[in-house]
Amino acid sequence: MIKYDCHLHTSFSSDSKTPPEVQIERAIELGMKGMCITDHMDREFPNLERSGMSFVFEPDEYFPKMQELKEKYKDRIDLLIGIELGLRNEPECRDRINEWYDELLGAYPFDFAIGSTHCLEFTDPYYSSPYWDDKDAKKGIRVYFEAVLENITRFNGYDSVGHLDYLIRYVPEHRLKADGRLYTINDIYDPREYFDILDEILKKLIDNGKALEINTAGLKYGLGYPHPHTTILKRYMELGGEMITIGSDGHRPEHLCYGFREAREMMESLGFKYQCVFKARKPVMYHIDDRA
Ligand SMILES: [Zn+2]
Ligand SMILES: [Zn+2]
Repeated sequence: MIKYDCHLHTSFSSDSKTPPEVQIERAIELGMKGMCITDHMDREFPNLERSGMSFVFEPDEYFPKMQELKEKYKDRIDLLIGIELGLRNEPECRDRINEWYDELLGAYPFDFAIGSTHCLEFTDPYYSSPYWDDKDAKKGIRVYFEAVLENITRFNGYDSVGHLDYLIRYVPEHRLKADGRLYTINDIYDPREYFDILDEILKKLIDNGKALEINTAGLKYGLGYPHPHTTILKRYMELGGEMITIGSDGHRPEHLCYGFREAREMMESLGFKYQCVFKARKPVMYHIDDRA
C-alpha cells in the first residue's frame, strides 16, 4: 500500500481550518505509516484583497508546533514537516521570492519542500481571474506549463513538483464553450499537445534528482485521473523517471489518502514500484507492493 500521505494542509494554511492534530489522528485511524504536513507558503500572493487569504504562515510558530506533535505522536505515526512553496515567474518578483525561500529552507530543518505553481501574471487563475481574458483553454494551459518550466529552472530548492497540471481544474466555463457547445476539460485537454514543454520539465526533474508528485486531488475533482494526467506519468516513466511522491492535498480530514488505492493501481499498471518519501530533504523509497 501507499504508506505516507505527503501533501497535506492544516490550519497553518489560509484555506484550511483543520487543526494539525485532527489530520494526524485521521492518518493514524487510516493506518498510515507516516505523513508529511506541507502548509502553504505563497510569498507575495497576488489576490490578497480578493481572496482575503495571504497563504503564508509564521515559521516560528509552525516549527515548534510541528516538532511538538512529531514527538507526541512518535510511537503512532512518522510525522514529517514539510512546506508547499508557491513558485513565481514574474520578473518583477521572482528573484527576491526565490531568495527568500532559499533562506527559509536553510534556516529550518524541513523534511520536504513541494514546488508548486499557483500564480502567474500577478494573479491566481483559480479566481476566474484576468488570466483567462486573453487566452483560450489550450493557450492558458500552455502558458501555465511554460511558467512551471521557468520556475523549476530558476529555483532549485524544491524536492518534488506539486500537481503539475492542476490548472486544468480552473479553466472557466466560458473558455470551455465553442460552436454553441459546452465542452468538458477532458474534451479539450490532451497532454500530448504539450510534450514539447512537458518533456523539458520531466527531463529537468530527472537530471536534477527531483521528484514528480502524484496529487490525488485530481480524482477528488472527478477528472478521472490524478495530477498530473496518466499520459504525463507514463511519459515520465519512459524518460527514465522513478521518483514519485504521493499526496492527497487534503485540507480536511475526510480528504486524507483520497484515491490512494486507485493511485497505487495506476502506478503498478504503469510500472512504478516505489513511493518516494523525503526525510530531512533526502529521498527514501518505499515499495508500494506489500508482498515485495
Ligand atoms: Zn497547491
Ligand atoms: Zn496543497
